[in-house]
Amino acid sequence: MKLESLVAALPLERKVRLLTGADFWSLHPEPAVGLRRLVVSDGPAGVRGEIWDERDTSVNVPSPTALAATWDETRVEAIGRLLAAESRRKGVDVLLAPTVNLHRSPYGGRHFECFSEDPLLTARIGVAYVRGVQGGGVGATVKHFVANDSETQRMTLDARVDERTLRELYLAPFEAIVREGEVWAVMAAYNGVNGATMTEHPLLQDVLRDEWGFDGVVMSDWFATRSTAAAGNAALDLVMPGPSGPWGEALVAAVRAGTVPESAVDEKVLRILRLAARVGALDNETADTAGAAAGAAYTEERVAAEVRATAAAGFVLVRNEGGALPLAPAELRGIAVLGPNAEVARTLGGGSATVFPPYTVSPLDGLRAAVGDGVEVTHAIGVVAHTRTPIARAPWLRLPDGTDHGAEVRYLDENGSVLAVERRDGGAFNWVMGSYPEGVVPERLAAIEVRALIRATEAGTYLIGSSGLGRHRLLVAGEEAYDAVLTLPPGADMVEAMLTPPQRTHPVRLAAGESVEVTLVHDRERTEGGLPGPALQLNLQTPHGTDEEEIERAVALARAADVAVVVVGTNEEVESEGFDRTSLALPGRQDDLVRRVAAANPRTIVVVNSGAPVLLPWHEEVAAVLLTWFPGQEYGNALADVLLGRVEPGGRLPTSWPLHEGDHAATQPVDGVLAYDEGPAIGYRGQIEALYPFGHGLGYTTWEYGAAEVRNVDDGAAGEVTVRVRNAGDRPGREVVQVYASRPDSAVERPRRWLAGFATVDAAPGEEVAVTVTVRRRAFEHWDVAAGRWAVEPGTFQLEIGSSSTTSRPRRPSPAISVSRPR
Ligand code: BGC
Repeated sequence: MKLESLVAALPLERKVRLLTGADFWSLHPEPAVGLRRLVVSDGPAGVRGEIWDERDTSVNVPSPTALAATWDETRVEAIGRLLAAESRRKGVDVLLAPTVNLHRSPYGGRHFECFSEDPLLTARIGVAYVRGVQGGGVGATVKHFVANDSETQRMTLDARVDERTLRELYLAPFEAIVREGEVWAVMAAYNGVNGATMTEHPLLQDVLRDEWGFDGVVMSDWFATRSTAAAGNAALDLVMPGPSGPWGEALVAAVRAGTVPESAVDEKVLRILRLAARVGALDNETADTAGAAAGAAYTEERVAAEVRATAAAGFVLVRNEGGALPLAPAELRGIAVLGPNAEVARTLGGGSATVFPPYTVSPLDGLRAAVGDGVEVTHAIGVVAHTRTPIARAPWLRLPDGTDHGAEVRYLDENGSVLAVERRDGGAFNWVMGSYPEGVVPERLAAIEVRALIRATEAGTYLIGSSGLGRHRLLVAGEEAYDAVLTLPPGADMVEAMLTPPQRTHPVRLAAGESVEVTLVHDRERTEGGLPGPALQLNLQTPHGTDEEEIERAVALARAADVAVVVVGTNEEVESEGFDRTSLALPGRQDDLVRRVAAANPRTIVVVNSGAPVLLPWHEEVAAVLLTWFPGQEYGNALADVLLGRVEPGGRLPTSWPLHEGDHAATQPVDGVLAYDEGPAIGYRGQIEALYPFGHGLGYTTWEYGAAEVRNVDDGAAGEVTVRVRNAGDRPGREVVQVYASRPDSAVERPRRWLAGFATVDAAPGEEVAVTVTVRRRAFEHWDVAAGRWAVEPGTFQLEIGSSSTTSRPRRPSPAISVSRPR
């Protein structure tokens, strides 16, 4: 039956019911038209599913900056297909990804979750991601439309962006993903743009629907819909989450009162049914069977291999003095693997992008497994770089009877009777979206008790504690350690409430091997801090020395080893949704650690594990620097592959790596307004001095660029550049050929140079390959504000081939290529 007839078959109340979520992650079913429940789920680095904790694990793929750093559309499309299979495995129909806001400022809290500072690279990688996901029959949701490029006051700020900048930069990836990627859903952002909030914004109708021909669903970001009639009359289709919200009965009344036409409701329902048809949720179809069959091809081994190879393909080698890398294990006796990010795998940023991987491989584990028995691998943390007390985990966290790792959760009613008991693997618990075990009715739940043993692996002081909101009572060895009500400062973001809530700790001295009983009681009679359900953590900090003692220990190991690998970085408490960073420096005394280790061992390799740029003030003092982003669950294996030269460090910078603090676009709104005063001058388009430029990255081989040829295609509106490149080294390698456009004599204000196209090439030693880079029409167009359309300035554009945004190939000046523009 035609979708329009299905809409017509439903009474107004039933139609309006479909326009608000049924709960946090799903849409209402409507048996009358054969519509089943449709499930949506975050997020870019995996598919979390409907449960927000370790009970429902998900493959953790490299984070978006890492994917963009591959500059490899084929690889990213394959990751999209893997995510589609994951979605099907987890009963998810629509993935809430990709995030294509731009790296406007390195301080942006969700920088790790976005691809790049460049609209073209973001668009190409985004289109590939969406093709992969949707090719697997699962919907993608491009977000957050638009100008949600930082987190401070994200719910309310008004981004003031001039029209040309909006079109050429911030809207450009959305446009490509709608037009070429044919994406099925768009998420409207929390913020406003130029005076109107995005869930009611005219851009949804005028640009997204009318100009770009978007026929899918526009859903609100979570809790971002602020009105009944204004949002109802705008091209917003779906209020998320549900079941309450500003539509529902109020929208029915507005239609009856004539403030919102019923045709607007019909259009929204039509779009939701179209999405349902696309993902196989209409016609009484049960959750996709073809998709499930495709998913069966993804064995654990295949997933691991793909995630591992993709992580390595995104690692960017920015410095490699005297061929310090790759390492040859046969020539080594000892490696010191040092730093706060060496032993715990930091594979993800924080916020809604969080997933719970089935396992992670830390740099230490990966290197230990790879070098074999002949090489001694030593480890010290060097410094403690986290400020929050970590979530309690194995091997310290044990069940109350001590038989295995984990904790026991008891759900109690108001009489203290046990409603359910659950065994859990870790110390983080989240019932904000429900997900209680069988037997627990939230209305009857009065208290939650977490019981465990903490077993000491070494003698010392252990900090045992808890995090969350509301009343927490901690008993250690049967004695009350504290009874406190934990609260957040006013105005805190809900993500903070859920993921970085207030903490309380209690010190306990334990002998090696000693265990102590711990019970945390959360009393539900008090507030959950505005969240719909509780979120708790049992926390544990194991003993450590002062930073000075830990640095000394690391230096001693570095001195005794042939090579020191220092893994520095951030973590999900530093880089997260909900807040921006206030400093680009590595947290804690990591810079001191690197300097002292480098002074002790000239062969110091620094591995940077962060989703966004951090400052590297010691970069000239170390032999090599490898940027690894938040690389997903196979981190350590991928790192070993690259450090030992089994795999090429394939990545190139998707964003300029800053030299110092300051100078960057502001992320702090003033009186609720965030002025994009820098206009289009972000990243390499601006004049900011970079430590490493956009596009930079070294490999293990060298390349020679030959003559280039340019051809006009598409009636002269676009071009193709073909260049011969030769692998001049003695190892197979991978190069990213980048084409930049410029227009020195332009009458239109433009950046000095901008990315116009790129292609990747793999070649064997001595092999010469002809690479063709497509330069699309858009590379030559600018937004003509007066005419309200794209225009091409007549005359000649210059195209340059380079290995980064600032270098033409050093050994041979890049051929200057002119593209004649007939119009
Ligand atoms: C985030 C979205 C996310 C949604 C659901 C919001 O806070 O901004 O990116 O998809 O939550 O988790």
